[in-house]
Amino acid sequence: MFYDILVVGSGPAGCTAAIYAGRDSFSVAVLEGNLPGGLLTTTTVIENFPGFVDGINGFELVSNMKKQAMKYNVNFINDSIANISKNNETFEITTLAGQKISAKSVIIASGSSPRKLNIPTEEKFWSKGVHSCATCDGFFYKNKEIAVIGGGDSSMEETHFLAKMAKKVYLLSRSDKLKATAAMQEKTLSLENVEHIANVSVVEFVGEDKLTGVKILNNATNEETVLNVDGVFLAIGHIPNTDFLKDFADLSELGNLLVTNNVYTNVEGMFSAGDVSDPIYRQAISSAGFGCMAAMAARKYLQK
Ligand code: NDP
Repeated sequence: MFYDILVVGSGPAGCTAAIYAGRDSFSVAVLEGNLPGGLLTTTTVIENFPGFVDGINGFELVSNMKKQAMKYNVNFINDSIANISKNNETFEITTLAGQKISAKSVIIASGSSPRKLNIPTEEKFWSKGVHSCATCDGFFYKNKEIAVIGGGDSSMEETHFLAKMAKKVYLLSRSDKLKATAAMQEKTLSLENVEHIANVSVVEFVGEDKLTGVKILNNATNEETVLNVDGVFLAIGHIPNTDFLKDFADLSELGNLLVTNNVYTNVEGMFSAGDVSDPIYRQAISSAGFGCMAAMAARKYLQK
């Protein structure tokens, strides 16, 4: 398989890059990754994507982007990147399933993944009491008691969503100052069945076969207590999906793909878009904007 442009990732950044590049009549493929559509498919309603007065479901938004790209003959490949190298002017990509793909230019839009706490017992209860996506797994906890760990906008969104079905949702934050925007805090913390417990760190997931609670350390008093809950949702930020780039491109200390002029990586012909190189804005609309820029930069490179 040989393409003018290979886009790695299929969230709003990757799909927008594919729409622009496909419409420019380049041969384009999108390597969808292990979560086709990206993290947006795991959110609920997006209320701030311009053009949708009443909001739009995240899954529907990104599905529409894919359909729009397919109108321009973009080939969506349901596989993930394993390795990338460059041989003269050609990029050589191997996928997890062992497919070989060559391309004249590459746009990296591989996004980011939810961060874990990395504490003992996390793996034991992963997906069996401990989760990172309320819209995917929230329905298991109808009328149950749940904890959300976080403090940013994602934790507010998860808490708000879960509060609609759970009996009670505890929001556990490690400091007393929440990072979330005032509007999101107001909308979520005013709900009757939501309780914010500040200044605590979760140090252990508790239970035998089934999760029954979390051990929390009060960061002010050093006192440890167990909070009984049936499930826990982590919303503590994200880490960029750049493992496959470690020996190939310049990354920041946090693992983000480094760029200049918004989308140019240090590898000629390779561009970047979205969360993978943006630890700051991380919005569907800003990712789409970076996708547009990356496609235009790739066009300029290919036309040289
Ligand atoms: P953030 O980085 O904004 O927040 C992460 C939160 O997790 C912080 O409160 C942080 O605490 C806490 N945290 C990090 N590590 C740990 C840990 N090991 N233990 C306990 N707590 C921890 O990430 P989000 O995913 O919430 O948001 C990312 C971006 O996406 C933001 O720009 C946000 O505005 C945006 N967003 C926008 C939405 C919208 O507009 N609808 C919805 C969701 C996200 P501390 O503050 O102490 O560091």
